[in-house]
Amino acid sequence: MPFSDLHLSDALLKAVADAGYTEPSAIQAAAIPAVLMGKDLIGVAQTGTGKTASFVLPMIDILAEGRSRARMPRSLILEPTRELAAQVAENFEKYGKYHKLSMALLIGGVAFGDQDRALEKGVDVLIATPGRLMDQHARGKILLSGVDVLVIDEADRMLDMGFIPDVEKICALLRPERQTLLFSATMPPPIKKLADRFMSDPKMVEVARPATTNKDIAQLLVPADARGKRDLLKDLLKSEEVRSGIIFCNRKTTVRDLAAALKRARLRVGQIHGDMEQADRIRELDRFKADEINLLVASDVAARGLDIKGVSHVFNFDIPWHPDDYVHRIGRTGRAGQKGVAISLVTADDIESIANIEKLTGQTIPRRAPLAFEAGSAEQPAAEAAEGRKSGAAKASRRKEERPRKSEATRPEARVDVAARPEARPESSQEAPQESRREARPESRPDTRTERSREGHEQARAPRRGGRAEGRRDGSQGPAHDTAGNAGRDMRRGGRDRRDGDEAASGPGFADGEIPAFLMFSARG
Ligand code: AMP
Repeated sequence: MPFSDLHLSDALLKAVADAGYTEPSAIQAAAIPAVLMGKDLIGVAQTGTGKTASFVLPMIDILAEGRSRARMPRSLILEPTRELAAQVAENFEKYGKYHKLSMALLIGGVAFGDQDRALEKGVDVLIATPGRLMDQHARGKILLSGVDVLVIDEADRMLDMGFIPDVEKICALLRPERQTLLFSATMPPPIKKLADRFMSDPKMVEVARPATTNKDIAQLLVPADARGKRDLLKDLLKSEEVRSGIIFCNRKTTVRDLAAALKRARLRVGQIHGDMEQADRIRELDRFKADEINLLVASDVAARGLDIKGVSHVFNFDIPWHPDDYVHRIGRTGRAGQKGVAISLVTADDIESIANIEKLTGQTIPRRAPLAFEAGSAEQPAAEAAEGRKSGAAKASRRKEERPRKSEATRPEARVDVAARPEARPESSQEAPQESRREARPESRPDTRTERSREGHEQARAPRRGGRAEGRRDGSQGPAHDTAGNAGRDMRRGGRDRRDGDEAASGPGFADGEIPAFLMFSARG
């Protein structure tokens, strides 16, 4: 199917052609017409499927008409991390180059004053992390009553990071008549509940998880001794043809220590983790993209969604505690049809995690050498076995405490290993990256605040069900694009349910700073 079948405007088709895309991806083909028709949409898809363009493209056409007003963004995109927010902004720049849409980023780690000025000018598209948006709202700097389109991106990641209560509060502040698009790699019960509460008759689009089926990523498990992992990694970095690689660790302290050690070994290495200032994180990513450094030691803050071209290797210095993080981490390589290599260092402690990963992906990952300790203590390497005997119970309970959130990790069935096949060798987070106060938050659980906000929202959305459904029934008769245009215009014409009084509460003052270039975009043709 060509892009021209999707009822996008000519200006957008030109921008898409400029980007070099010839055909819409599966999620784009399914989602774009529905979004243009004004429908709510649930996209069960992860990064790498082209999901960003599946909402950015139709939003640009929907927002093409109309004018932004001070402090009243016309659309809102919620992202779990600053990096993803910045990446979505880049997508708006790329696809919106023939449009005149203004855009602002509202993310933690940037001075409030910069963001105040951006908001004051009025923006068509506001891309925000939930925490910073709530802070700005509490300061009375933003009125959410003008939002016609809401996107909740990476919803399951938001859940992992404890942001769902904030997302619910934000949903309850928006006009019930808005259009809501929700994207999530999985649909755990709390996300289903969120969709049930805040979406109206959504169209469901599901596409395959690309990383689990991505044949372009050669995966390998390398047995390791916990104390020898650094040396092993250095050897691998020498023996592999690593053009550029991301090395994932489970803890920020490990990221810091490992990056320092690799630097001492004169490697071109940077680091990224959730305790770093936003400006430093962006700088490290920019250095990596510009090939000033070719290795990036990272926590899971870099695991999802980051779309960096040409990453040849991903190393799991630590095996992630949650199997889906493995899928996200290795998905940073093998992108856009290129080949990639994902190498994981496996100690005796990681056997359960590896079994969970293989259960999730339905694949057995090739071993460079037998993971002897997989078969039982008899074959366990001496050092590991001694370590295990000494502190097995204590370590197990410590690891449990350290494991953040996600209680759903399944226990693997007992398995006895898989022989090594040397010929299988390829040739060649849990932290929240927002304000640190949020990093400590526990997993989202419906609580009394949630219940209150639900009650409030149920009342607020009551008229919507009739109004929107009517509009859609009418709209679905005609051609998609005309319908979308009308629906959009009607939506914008409709009286806005302003709650200026509620939203104007003023907050404490903060120091101003320079406006970073990425903060305020104006894509002009
Ligand atoms: P996403 O899933 O949104 O992170 O997109 C993954 C990558 O696919 C990005 O590098 C996009 O630029 C690229 N992409 C998006 N849509 C298409 C398309 N229709 N054809 C080719 N590449 C695409």
